[in-house]
Amino acid sequence: MSMSQQLKYPFSVGTRKAAQKLARDLRILISFVESRTNTYIIEAAEKRVLAALDQSEIPLVHTGEPGDVLIYPTARLIVEKIGDPRLREYQAEAESKAVNKHLGKEKEGFVTNLCQSAFGWHVESAGTIRERAKLPIQLRTFEFKLRYEDFLEVAPAFHQSPWKLINRYVDKGWVPVQRLELNRLVSGKFKLLILHSTLDVPTLPQRLTESVQRVETDLRGKIRTTTPVKLTGDAVSAFPPCISNMHDDATQGKNLSHEARFALASFLLKIGMSEEEVLGVFKAAPDFVRGLAEYQVKHIASKAAGEGYTPPGCSKLQGNSLCPVYLGTAKDPLCQYVQHPLAFYQTRAWEVSKGIDNHSWYATKKRKRQSL
Ligand code: SF4
Repeated sequence: MSMSQQLKYPFSVGTRKAAQKLARDLRILISFVESRTNTYIIEAAEKRVLAALDQSEIPLVHTGEPGDVLIYPTARLIVEKIGDPRLREYQAEAESKAVNKHLGKEKEGFVTNLCQSAFGWHVESAGTIRERAKLPIQLRTFEFKLRYEDFLEVAPAFHQSPWKLINRYVDKGWVPVQRLELNRLVSGKFKLLILHSTLDVPTLPQRLTESVQRVETDLRGKIRTTTPVKLTGDAVSAFPPCISNMHDDATQGKNLSHEARFALASFLLKIGMSEEEVLGVFKAAPDFVRGLAEYQVKHIASKAAGEGYTPPGCSKLQGNSLCPVYLGTAKDPLCQYVQHPLAFYQTRAWEVSKGIDNHSWYATKKRKRQSL
């Protein structure tokens, strides 16, 4: 795989090996990119995230330095530090689109090797045009065949009817696929990898923190101006049980403890609600004093943009008796696979948007992070 291909396919084995050679874990990555000679990596990573946020093409930076392969991991690190599920969604969408475009220019053998080495998929050529001419007419345009279990890793995320297995020809567990479909499955798999991965990002040094703050400012501006978040039924149904309880209590006019108020306000601000909308959630409380609440929400909002007030994670909420799953009064299978209510929200919002209500995929795709 050439260097330029390594940069185009960050999920490939070659790229991951090259990146690990320079930085085998997150802490080494952070100190590598912060060193004076490598800060171009942070600049390029920031541009990459901003391009995703603008829904424009992901720029490929190829300086010829080995550190070029760290631009993508640094871009992921910036996004995970911010922890906003919509930013991750923007990134996953733009990165996946870029891969789909690059794949269109690769040779067939390259794509099948990539499927096998990066994802362990079983994919085979369906034969030459001459060989395929002997097949029933409806199968002649399919250049490849893919195992149905590999097809099902991604296809359910696409909604058009040709992606439903029930609408496909399947022969002894093999699904015939066209080249463009295979490209789409590969880029779709990459998108899912981004959507389902989380990093525990430690406190960042100066240059990375500045990048994080610039992206966060851009994100907030974009969300405010283009997609004001309303608490639709969909958004509420993606809340984890802890936030759902606090939200219900607040809107039903019950007083919340200081910790619950902070957790709920910082969570709602992080998922993109405006300060005014967050105030609206609290205004039914008997102890609501507008000026004071405004001050508190503004304070949390201003810090939420930087390194300060992100919503508390699961262990903190459990320690404050605010996790109903820990207390045994609620149940949700996803809670075992997350350590933060935002991570819960990001996955559940994705499931709600795709109409997925069977959660059995957690066990095969996610690592258990807590036992409740
Ligand atoms: S496990 Fe975490 S996300 Fe789930 S209810 Fe408890 S605190 Fe909330």
